[in-house]
Amino acid sequence: MDISVLPLAAGQMKAKVADESQLGFGRIFTDRMLLVEWTAEQGWHNARIKPYEPFVLDPSAQVFHYAQEIFEGLKAYKWADGRVALFRPEKNARRFNLSADRLCMPELPEELFVEGIKQLVGLEQDWIPTAAGTSLYIRPAMIGVQPVLGVNPSDHYYFFVILSPVGAYYAAGFKPVSIMVEDHYVRAVPGGTGEAKTGGNYASSLKAGLEAKKKGFDQVLWLDGREQRYIEEVGAMNMFFVYGNRIVTSALNGSILSGVTRDSVLALGKKLGCTVEETKIDVNELMADIKAGKVTEAFGSGTAAVITPVGKLYYKGETVQLGGGGVGELTQKLYDTLTGIQTGALPDEFGWVTFVK
Ligand SMILES: *Cc1c(COP(=O)(O)O)cnc(C)c1O
Repeated sequence: MDISVLPLAAGQMKAKVADESQLGFGRIFTDRMLLVEWTAEQGWHNARIKPYEPFVLDPSAQVFHYAQEIFEGLKAYKWADGRVALFRPEKNARRFNLSADRLCMPELPEELFVEGIKQLVGLEQDWIPTAAGTSLYIRPAMIGVQPVLGVNPSDHYYFFVILSPVGAYYAAGFKPVSIMVEDHYVRAVPGGTGEAKTGGNYASSLKAGLEAKKKGFDQVLWLDGREQRYIEEVGAMNMFFVYGNRIVTSALNGSILSGVTRDSVLALGKKLGCTVEETKIDVNELMADIKAGKVTEAFGSGTAAVITPVGKLYYKGETVQLGGGGVGELTQKLYDTLTGIQTGALPDEFGWVTFVK
């Protein structure tokens, strides 16, 4: 599908943030966005890169009432040689369609997803920050916009992509987070939408997140929705526990989001000579293993921070420390290797990187 590029008026060009340490996450957006529409009669049509601006939507639009929405998250990096790299965008395209199917939304050609992003990022590449740890965060999303209050899948959709230059997550160095194992609220249940990247999962997670913050914890670790006994994932990260040379993560069970970073950590772990294991992790056994000193490190994986070391875990009135509260050796190694591949500092032996022209 041809993507037309609409002109950008002088007044629609924003000033870039000069001090890249002030970028933060997802607060600044570039000058242009991609928008493609779908209707039952026409399928996907009217693909255009246009000025970044608000949508005009009917107050009865489906997304506002019944949350027919899915999204993705990936990053573009500007390499030292000037090339612009994306990390495994075809994985995001595939997952986007799995989410679309779960939410009864139309399938988007994977090539349109990847090519649309490449063209948009190519046009906006001057917005990619270059300081260590910074990148251009890419947010594709799809919403149902049909103006009707009947509960049905929408007959009209917007697929859009916006871009946000983001700062270094660990500007002040790697900082281990403290995590509270949630034993009241649940994020997802078998047969629910846990495996789909949909805003509703986040809306329903906010309350637990706020309550954990009030108790002094950074993030919530979710248990399974049936028995509240098995480790699922954290906020927007998959979880890993390191037992010496063995890396353990929760097996994908339909209610856990299948992270691209998770998949990359598993491949990299194997390459580094570790045993990697996807299994059911019983929270009681995990706590006992941590107390017995068997779990040497723990970390989360996700696009935003890549790897997040976990220093503390709280469950039912008890707090345990991991890796002496510092950053484990393997955690550091995985972070350095993944970010090295993404930024071109290390060779990409897996063929994970693709370039924007
Ligand atoms: C996006 C997301 C992740 C991490 O996925 P990546 O592809 O590694 O960024 C993990 N859990 C949830 C709930 C997510 O939405």
